[in-house]
Amino acid sequence: MTGTTWQGDVDQRALPGTVRDDFPFFRGAEGVGLAYLDNAATTQKPAAVLAAITDYYATANSNVGRGYYRLSMASTDRFEAARGTVARAIGAAHPDEVLFTSGTTHAVNLLAATLGRRLVGPGDRVLVTGMEHNSNLLPWRRLCEEAGAELVAVPVDADGAVRADAFADALGPRVRLAAMAHVSNVLGTVNPVREMIAEAHRHGVPVVIDGAQAVPHRPVDVRALDADFYCFSAHKVYGPMGVGVLYGRRDLLADLPPYQVGGGTVKGVSLAEPVRYLAGPPRFEAGTPDVAGAVGLAAALDYLDGLGRDAVRAHDAALVRHAVTALGQLDRVRIVGDPARDPSGIVSFVVEGIHPYDVGGHLDRHRIAARCGVHCASVFLDGLGLLGTVRLSFGVYNTVADVDRVREAVAGVEPGFWTAEHPTTRFL
Ligand code: PMP
Repeated sequence: MTGTTWQGDVDQRALPGTVRDDFPFFRGAEGVGLAYLDNAATTQKPAAVLAAITDYYATANSNVGRGYYRLSMASTDRFEAARGTVARAIGAAHPDEVLFTSGTTHAVNLLAATLGRRLVGPGDRVLVTGMEHNSNLLPWRRLCEEAGAELVAVPVDADGAVRADAFADALGPRVRLAAMAHVSNVLGTVNPVREMIAEAHRHGVPVVIDGAQAVPHRPVDVRALDADFYCFSAHKVYGPMGVGVLYGRRDLLADLPPYQVGGGTVKGVSLAEPVRYLAGPPRFEAGTPDVAGAVGLAAALDYLDGLGRDAVRAHDAALVRHAVTALGQLDRVRIVGDPARDPSGIVSFVVEGIHPYDVGGHLDRHRIAARCGVHCASVFLDGLGLLGTVRLSFGVYNTVADVDRVREAVAGVEPGFWTAEHPTTRFL
């Protein structure tokens, strides 16, 4: 097992060194001794989450919202309790503002197909930023192509950050909608979303926030942000894959048409009369939802509350600062952006003269799992003039020792196959 001793400038009180013991994965064949540093892609799951999912299937499994018997009602209660937990975790005014989706990607697609189609027409503009993940870029791009509208990306500065005034400059009478990441999945840059939302609202423009990389690392309060819509994925916040959240302000959701239609979205249908879709979450959750997934997500959020959201933030931030210091000692390493300015659990770097895939493969041989490449954000990488980066992304079970292993491994990395044979190839 990777050491859990604390050292350097890390605040030892942030999280107990025993957190890793909460995660069965690290006792399994693949987990023992692994420095898992790809938490921005997905996190490992604590025993409490696995237990909640198993318990749901073992004791309450039945379909929700459509059975007039106790078991089905109990299952519905668990689903709705999970919605309540999510609502409390993000500061929503009411559980009905929380829609379960299959993830951030699904949530953004839902909005593009409903809100987007309703608001955006020929000659209009949709604003995004130059740092978006494809999941918060392609749905808007397709919407614009279909509507004859223009997709405008607010530029990022040399540090890979979007400035609130650059966003304000891009707002104008033709802008109907804006969508942006709260935290970049590539550099961990935090956007000034509160200011950006306020500015957009001054222009009457609703804003969609992609919070996939924010919720794992910092307390998020959708009302304090005055967010219209806020999306995130359970699997990046220690919950299961296949479930996510779309928060929407109640009055805004009430105006939206359904996205997918089908069972659960109506009370009754007659072929002779217009369809009357239900109000609230059922209108947007056609078909059988991932009830166990929602229950697992609620368990994950409870788990993080148990650790303390501020302690999690302090821990992840301390690892970012330690990584910046440790990697900064290596001659050939360049840290991209300024991840320590407002740390959010991510540090991206390049090793001069070595293809990111050679660095990633080298780390893998040292039993370090870190993602390398364009991180589903090639537009951003193009803007930074980079082929790709190596990305360290931290979770609650990571330690200073994990970071120090990266520093030692990177110190010995040499150009390999990719540098020699495919120096300009990128794909992931
Ligand atoms: N947005 C951001 C910023 C992300 O990091 C990710 C996942 N890498 C997504 C959207 C998509 O999330 P999912 O694959 O869970 O739908």
